[in-house]
Amino acid sequence: SGALAALDRRADFPGLLTADGQPWHYLDTAATAQKPRAVIDAMARAMGEDYATVHRGVYARSANMTLAFEAARRRVAGFIGAGGAEEIVFVRGATEGINLVAQSWGGANLQAGDRILLSQLEHHSNIVPWQMAAERAGAQIDVVPLTEDSRIDVEAMAAMITPAHKMVALAHVSNVLGSTLDVARAAEIAHSVGALLLVDGCQAVPRVPVDVGALGCDFYVFSGHKLYGPTGIGVLWGRKELLDAMPPYQGGGSMIDRVTFAKTTYAPAPTRFEAGTPAIVEAVALAAAVDYVEGIGLSAIHAHEAALVAQARDALSQINSVRLLGPEDSAGIISFEVQGVHPHDVGTILDEEGVAIRAGHHCAQPLMDFLSVPATARASFGIYSDESDIAALVRGIERVRKIFAK
Ligand code: PMP
Repeated sequence: SGALAALDRRADFPGLLTADGQPWHYLDTAATAQKPRAVIDAMARAMGEDYATVHRGVYARSANMTLAFEAARRRVAGFIGAGGAEEIVFVRGATEGINLVAQSWGGANLQAGDRILLSQLEHHSNIVPWQMAAERAGAQIDVVPLTEDSRIDVEAMAAMITPAHKMVALAHVSNVLGSTLDVARAAEIAHSVGALLLVDGCQAVPRVPVDVGALGCDFYVFSGHKLYGPTGIGVLWGRKELLDAMPPYQGGGSMIDRVTFAKTTYAPAPTRFEAGTPAIVEAVALAAAVDYVEGIGLSAIHAHEAALVAQARDALSQINSVRLLGPEDSAGIISFEVQGVHPHDVGTILDEEGVAIRAGHHCAQPLMDFLSVPATARASFGIYSDESDIAALVRGIERVRKIFAK
């Protein structure tokens, strides 16, 4: 179809070839995305001829690097529709972003008897930090169930939320099933009782247009490495007045206003939350990734992945022993089972065929419990995916069936 051929970006990604130059069918983009040459080059320049520290040096190289680092913050802010660059906190990844809010906001605001609302499909990184915060505060966690077709059931959420709920934390797009949350509706429900909504946007930011202002949430987190950028950098967006009211997360250099042994005062947000030398190179390369992705456009990427999902679901559903999980309109992620074969065996045999999928619980054990499976096989798409990947996947699964039919 036109949508499938339209992107045609494979050649931009050196990681999509095997060591001996053969095409590699990489279907694990939900775990981490391959990087386009533009990002690799930006990273090499930032680590090479442009390299210096930020925020401190009196020499020109450092001043220039500081400009590039702060430009990256503005680039990210514009990309997700933030109110301004001061609402963007650079963190190590989504995991650290959620831990920051759970510890800083949670430490200051959660009290005994308060409740936190999560969903059945959350990634462990949007469960465990809240359990830790709840334990410290004496708060409780409640779990929003899923609909029959494995979406977060927002109307069930509306029925179960109470004024005791202070925080709601939900995934925008499920990393296992690709199901998409109606964030605006979830925000409306959270705010109706005075709770805040944190959205885990790890799988959404690379797959759907995101405008945090329009979504109406209070915090939004994502990881750079899933957005075709480097590891070691991620983003916490928070509404300015919320960030300003939150205590520091970690102490150290850079996050202070004035230090004496008697008393230390802190810098305003976002600096207050960025103790230590930041991920300078990674931030600059993340901005390059945003440029690359915006050059294609999130609407085009979303349409591309939707077409791939439709084609893959159609092809896989014609194989008798394959059971598809998740909704038909999944945002680029398909979990499936091959009857009578453990997902790890599916993954190993596919690897021999040059097809890389993920097999396991995908850091979502409560979702596995809900689906009554120990693990799933998961194929996930990206900008560079095309029909040849689906054809290779189908060929590989046919081989799995032959081996296990013996
Ligand atoms: N949430 C979701 C939905 C994810 O898919 C992931 C990564 N698998 C994370 C959170 C955690 O991201 P990171 O490991 O980059 O911190």
